[in-house]
Amino acid sequence: MTSKAEPINHQTIHPPETITILGGGQLGSMLCEAAKRMGYRTFCVSGHETDPVRRWADHHLIADPGEPATVARVARQSAILTVEAESIEPVALEAAANAQCRVAPSADVQRTVRDRRSEKMFLRDHGLAVGPFATVESAKQMREAAETLFAGGSKKLVAKTARGGYDGKGQRWIHSVTEAADAWEALGSTPLVVEGGIDFVAEASVIVARSADGRMTHFPMFQNEHRRGILFQTRMPGDFSSATAAQAIDLGRRTAEALGVVGLLAVEMFILPDGNVLINELAARPHNSGHVTMRAASRSQFEMHIAAICGLPLPEIHTLQPGVMTNLLGDLWAHGEPDFAKVLADGRGMIHLYGKSPRSGRKMGHMIHTAPTLAEAVQAANAAYEILESR
Ligand code: AMP
Repeated sequence: MTSKAEPINHQTIHPPETITILGGGQLGSMLCEAAKRMGYRTFCVSGHETDPVRRWADHHLIADPGEPATVARVARQSAILTVEAESIEPVALEAAANAQCRVAPSADVQRTVRDRRSEKMFLRDHGLAVGPFATVESAKQMREAAETLFAGGSKKLVAKTARGGYDGKGQRWIHSVTEAADAWEALGSTPLVVEGGIDFVAEASVIVARSADGRMTHFPMFQNEHRRGILFQTRMPGDFSSATAAQAIDLGRRTAEALGVVGLLAVEMFILPDGNVLINELAARPHNSGHVTMRAASRSQFEMHIAAICGLPLPEIHTLQPGVMTNLLGDLWAHGEPDFAKVLADGRGMIHLYGKSPRSGRKMGHMIHTAPTLAEAVQAANAAYEILESR
């Protein structure tokens, strides 16, 4: 685990240079869209022909985006290389850097954020507010961790696989030391982070954009609602006191600075009853909650990631109109195509579909509703969602 800064190269990358994106999902696809609008060429590497990036990439190479030799070859023809997923192997980023390509985020940052153990330890070591946790690598450590966290006052715990878990996958709640032993096995006897359950009043995220020369800008704080461990809705701006928002934004910016990240850093947070803030987790890439910026903000998160990695100006970002982003999961396709015509008739929403085949729990797309007040945007978003669910 390190917090090294990126190799220093502050030269601005101008259009029509080529940006390579490793990974093929919707985040990559929306990054490509933004990059193209900004005049850049895009080259994407991902495992499947059908991946969402196919729709926006200028070039789509079907290959393993974690394979160092492939990535080095692609990197030689790119001005800069970035990632759209934590799962990309840091060694692939090292290979790109060794091929004299600029890489953002760096292999060090990727290594820190892709494993919940190194991420949590990084936060604790840098005095960045994080809840009680323990790292666990054996059944014995699992028992000890549970005993210590319960003794420390946690009423319930959540065990999370150190790698590969997302959208609530690879997680298990624990209410006793006996349940901890079961959880160790149920999660596959694999390295874990065990956290004390936080009694939060709200969840939030702060997204910071940082360039290689240390300039930063941030988005207004978002408020997030999760259902079954998956983000359901994001509201912008979040309904928080100015003291909480200031604390959250300061924490987000300090985390980006400590990590030395180049590009976006999304910081997921818990808001406590007293208004204080704890970090839940980090993502050094665009974040699902940030989709709301595509309509509600003066710049989208995708645009700002490209701006930050290319060294363009990072303007202050403001809310254009209050907005609500609602995720559309594959479950809405259970009885065929959802009734989008009816949803769009209202005129306040937009629908963005990623071109994936439907599966339960899979993120298929999102809606964004904007309105003169947040209450109206929420009302419009919820009415639209009810229509989709009622089919
Ligand atoms: P994560 O994958 O870590 O973002 O967790 C998904 C969701 O589970 C979070 O957004 C929270 O709603 C919930 N969660 C995760 N960790 C905790 C925790 N330590 N305490 C309370 N809720 C949690």
